[in-house]
Amino acid sequence: MSKKVLVTGGAGFLGSHLCERLLEQGHDVLCVDNFFTGTKQNVMHLIGHPYFELMRHDVTFPLYVEVDEIYNLACPASPIHYQFDPVQTTKTSVHGAINMLGLAKRLKARILQASTSEVYGDPEVHPQHEGYWGKVNPIGIRSCYDEGKRCAETLFFDYHRQHNLDIKVVRIFNTYGPRMHPNDGRVVSNFIVQALKGEDITIYGDGTQTRSFCYVDDMVEAFLLMMQTKAGFVGPVNVGNSGEYSMLELAEKTLSLVGGKSKIVYQPLPQDDPRQRKPDITIAESKLGWSPTVPLDEGLERTIGYFKEHLFGHELSD
Ligand code: NAD
Ligand code: UDP
Ligand code: UDP
Repeated sequence: MSKKVLVTGGAGFLGSHLCERLLEQGHDVLCVDNFFTGTKQNVMHLIGHPYFELMRHDVTFPLYVEVDEIYNLACPASPIHYQFDPVQTTKTSVHGAINMLGLAKRLKARILQASTSEVYGDPEVHPQHEGYWGKVNPIGIRSCYDEGKRCAETLFFDYHRQHNLDIKVVRIFNTYGPRMHPNDGRVVSNFIVQALKGEDITIYGDGTQTRSFCYVDDMVEAFLLMMQTKAGFVGPVNVGNSGEYSMLELAEKTLSLVGGKSKIVYQPLPQDDPRQRKPDITIAESKLGWSPTVPLDEGLERTIGYFKEHLFGHELSD
């Protein structure tokens, strides 16, 4: 059945892929974004589609629209961007959540929160499962994002308990793919762009810290499946790929796929950078019937293809 679906942060990396999939499924999509890290280019191909509407709006301000479902993705996701204006980052997570929850409450609409593995902070439990409460510095440079997202989860669960709101919470682990912002400092985009330009590959710290990387199409599939689960199931659910790689392994893999002459260089590790991260996806597997399908090499190839086109205007022939 066709629904009116609101996607906040819909002009961002994940949001633009989600809008695309929702339109493919025949839904009427309202994309709301303030274009802080997202761009019109990300959704340019959707403009003109009869069921796509783009609205410039900051979710820290109230929003009065009529929809059936809400995906709340608005929030800068990369450390460079969320640390650029940390107060605004917390406002976006917290005031943005309050406004979108207030909207969902008035409309009796189902609402999904894009939470994050950052709620686990620098975890002492490995792999991370949903029952783990995390180890988060409340006053560090990542706190605006980590604590903002933790508070948003609190608000979601309190609206659920207090107002019986139909919520869904997914905790997203590192996700990559086409339409990542080339300058947002995330490791996959940094390494690919550096390798394509023949610049040094910058490893922060000694490169032994680990992350698990999920391809964007798999992630969007998990959002859609979570939104369709029965009302009693609210999450939180970890969504991510459980393959775990050190940053040194990722650098070497990227270099071998891109080729070229880049050298690996080492730079200081940012404060509070988590040592290791890997999702326990048992709940996603059993409750959503979901597991990732795109292996890292294949996802990286596709992402490299996108950046070649994006950075140089055409696929390079080398
Ligand atoms: P992104 O930066 O590409 O997208 C975020 C979007 O939100 C952008 O389009 C931005 O302009 C918009 N936005 C920011 N502040 C806003 C505001 N106040 N009002 C309206 N729009 C606003 O990042 P992404 O990777 O697509 O992340 C989407 C969501 O998923 C975020 O909530 C992020 O925290 C979460 N997430 C992403 C990852 C990942 O690896 N990509 C991991 C964990 C969580
Ligand atoms: N809100 C909104 N759109 C709506 C309804 C509410 O943006 O359609 C915002 C409004 O700013 C409000 C917030 O959501 O302050 C929380 O709403 P709620 O009903 O939970 O609380 P209120 O503050 O209205 O008592
Ligand atoms: N990182 C790196 N070089 C870069 C960018 C990031 O070594 O050019 C490291 C970063 O310190 C972290 C990991 O890669 O340990 C993942 O960083 P990202 O910002 O992509 O995600 P997050 O830290 O939020 O998981």
